[in-house]
Amino acid sequence: SAPSTPPRLLGDTPHGGSVLAFYSPKGSPRPPRVGRGEGVYLWDADGQRYLDATAGAVVANIGHGNPHVLAAMQEQASRVSFAYPRFFESEHNIALADRVCSLAGEGFDRAFFVSGGSEANESAIKLARHYAVVSGQGSRWKVISRNPSYHGSTLGALAVTGDEHTQSIYGAMIKPMPKVPAPLSYRLPEGHTEESYAMACAEDLARTIEREGPETVLAFILEPIGGLSTGAVVSPAAYFERVRQTCDQYGVLLIYDEIMSGAGRTGEFLAAHHWQAARPDLVTLAKGLAAGYTPLGCLLAPDRIVDAVAGSGGFVHGHTYFTNPLSCAVANAVMDEVERQGLVARARERGLGLRRRLEALAERSPLVGDVRGLGLLSAIEIVADKGSRRALPPEFNAPAKLTVHGLRHGIALYNRRANLGAFGDFQMITPPLTISESELDELVERLERALADLADEVTR
Ligand code: PLP
Repeated sequence: SAPSTPPRLLGDTPHGGSVLAFYSPKGSPRPPRVGRGEGVYLWDADGQRYLDATAGAVVANIGHGNPHVLAAMQEQASRVSFAYPRFFESEHNIALADRVCSLAGEGFDRAFFVSGGSEANESAIKLARHYAVVSGQGSRWKVISRNPSYHGSTLGALAVTGDEHTQSIYGAMIKPMPKVPAPLSYRLPEGHTEESYAMACAEDLARTIEREGPETVLAFILEPIGGLSTGAVVSPAAYFERVRQTCDQYGVLLIYDEIMSGAGRTGEFLAAHHWQAARPDLVTLAKGLAAGYTPLGCLLAPDRIVDAVAGSGGFVHGHTYFTNPLSCAVANAVMDEVERQGLVARARERGLGLRRRLEALAERSPLVGDVRGLGLLSAIEIVADKGSRRALPPEFNAPAKLTVHGLRHGIALYNRRANLGAFGDFQMITPPLTISESELDELVERLERALADLADEVTR
């Protein structure tokens, strides 16, 4: 049934009323007001229930309202919520660093905690640069990244984000960094297979380093499995191996942005673990690490980099909330639940079940042209025509329309705000890792109803 409160429009309260007054186009319908959450469900203030099909922004990995996490939060808050880390170490910071480094495995000896994903990427880029400076390689400063990509919304993270829309506004304010194409899998350039295109993209990295001058190139940053950039494209192992080889050849640091793909979502603690022959030098995490209970991001680094920087006066980088005791306590409790419930293995298993259901849905729906992903990081491609793989026109704004239909059918769907034209439209399907088989059935049923309404609009 439809929510009881009729949607009002954004901007219709005297002071805008919410952050969305900045964020969404004026006159957009107001989203429902969240009331509470439990498991894979959210309820609005009117009591209407929504299945959280994307774990918010791919965040709520252990579902909502987890009692163990809430108890840990209360316990830490009642002891101390804040103590500045240069004056006081915190028990949970030490325990969380040990835990995350051991889950990440060989090559990840130190963990630096910040407030979110953009801050984690800023930290990775700055640590890489600081390391180059203290090791006598101060000429290296360029960070190559991919197009399309998303690495965050702060100006440093935007410099490496491959997205024309944000570049058109903020590009003049930031040092433009070289871009190479990200391998895609659905719409390929003429004459390419998925594998041959991925390898061509890897070769482009070597060419770009040569063109820029290897002595100026600091790092290459990529999302091992794309989120809102490529929509869960999974590249072949040979791509990662070639990239690793190229970085070794030119002394370039390899950074994996695992803000969306990390913390167990793809069926390994890090997506990097799927390609053991191509380990990155630095990894960033956020989202699923504290699973939305508190804000938290993390940079993982090897001893050799941290020791070189610490041995030369220390990392010139910090934030008020770095290593926040409350966030670290919460993330430890989240990791307890990930282990207790076996959620990394569950992501792998449920991922197969979700994939099967989405492929069956693609057979039935005229709009679903592709299903892809790994574990519970998956996406469906939304097309105007399956034969030609033609996308819907950008001005139709299929993702925004699908979100509205989804809410009417009791399913919350996070997707990309701007249609990146040439790259088409996709919808992430990334439920909490705790989702049951019957909840997966319900997710796909509700999604199918939302897609049917969208299909009606397309033909109207
Ligand atoms: N990197 C990736 C791959 C992301 O998906 C995101 C957020 O969606 C970010 C970085 C930025 O993280 P945050 O929004 O926590 O700053």
